[in-house]
Amino acid sequence: MSMRRKPNPNRNHPLHCPYCSSEDLFPNLEGEFAWKCHDCLRIFSVMFHGQDDPEHRPAPADSTAGALRKSLEKHNVAL
Ligand SMILES: [Zn+2]
Repeated sequence: MSMRRKPNPNRNHPLHCPYCSSEDLFPNLEGEFAWKCHDCLRIFSVMFHGQDDPEHRPAPADSTAGALRKSLEKHNVAL
């Protein structure tokens, strides 16, 4: 029987306590994502849930040839 837990690759490492801004943080046994602040003694969790899609996504850029063609058409330049 192993006394140590397997490392959790999804554990994020906060740099500061969200309550008192202390940097004196250590992993805590409360949960897989729990941290304990040794200054204010709070135990909190930091967990990444994913990334949401943006509300407005920029249109893909034209190719160089396409951009040149559009520019020439815009300025009425004949090749
Ligand atoms: Zn704190």
